[in-house]
Amino acid sequence: MSTEHETGNVVVLDLGGTSLRLGHMRQGVACPDFQRISSDRLRVDNAQQVLVDIIREYATKLELKLDVVVLGLPGMIDRQQDTFTHCNNIPQLEGQGLQASLSAALQCRVILEQDIMLQLLGEWRGGSAQGSPAVFGVYFGTGIGAAYLVDGDPYAQSAAGLQAGHIPIMAQGKPCVCGNTDCIEAYACGHTLLELALKHSCSVENLFIEKDNPALSAELETFVLYQSFMIATLVTLFVPDMIVVGGGIPQMAGYPQDRLISNVRKHLRKPYPADSIKIQWACLGNHSTLQGALALLDLNDPIY
Ligand SMILES: [Zn+2]
Repeated sequence: MSTEHETGNVVVLDLGGTSLRLGHMRQGVACPDFQRISSDRLRVDNAQQVLVDIIREYATKLELKLDVVVLGLPGMIDRQQDTFTHCNNIPQLEGQGLQASLSAALQCRVILEQDIMLQLLGEWRGGSAQGSPAVFGVYFGTGIGAAYLVDGDPYAQSAAGLQAGHIPIMAQGKPCVCGNTDCIEAYACGHTLLELALKHSCSVENLFIEKDNPALSAELETFVLYQSFMIATLVTLFVPDMIVVGGGIPQMAGYPQDRLISNVRKHLRKPYPADSIKIQWACLGNHSTLQGALALLDLNDPIY
């Protein structure tokens, strides 16, 4: 996939709980190859410096002079104050001045965006959410990420500070990574699958294709039901035009995509929005971040 753009050389770094992915555009042309590095490299005291080193190493290896670096971060970004918080997976990156110090160290423009918003912007610009006036993205991965994009504007107040993975849904007292108990994320994300794999002595990758294990099947059914509860809750509250479901879990072998969708519709008011809500799967993969970066550059944001 290539995209013509007058933005020069752009490096995009998407920071996930398990791994970080680096991609780039050279003189506006997207490169199909992405590099994956373990996020553990950033779980150190000098995480900001390591982040700079990772981006520098990547650019040097590709002989790429940096014009713009776009980071998709799993946490809450306050652009006015240049603060980064709520990063449960890599708290070492939290604090003040991340954007300014990265920009100074890398000597280029640096744009920070919430990771799911960056991917959703990509789907809106060139993927499964093209043209949607109001799309809610729900991504089931290591954790649960969500973003709400209205009129393609990631800076709208309606989109700010969403922490949809931390809606409380249960009363079982299960701890969540955020410090609270009973958040949906504690019951329906990658951590939950790890626990199930351990409990049933099978590999995480094969969970949804395990045969002859009724106890596991029942637990996975409940897992998918919780995921649908979350989506139905968001549709009920925000009444978006479309839901985009992404992340690694729905792409796992044997994951019951049809059941997720039918569960969502089952728990929505009839006939509206049960029949009217569009539910799409994120389709761009890694490229969503490059498309998202282009969408951000199109905005000509005055702050960064
Ligand atoms: Zn939580």
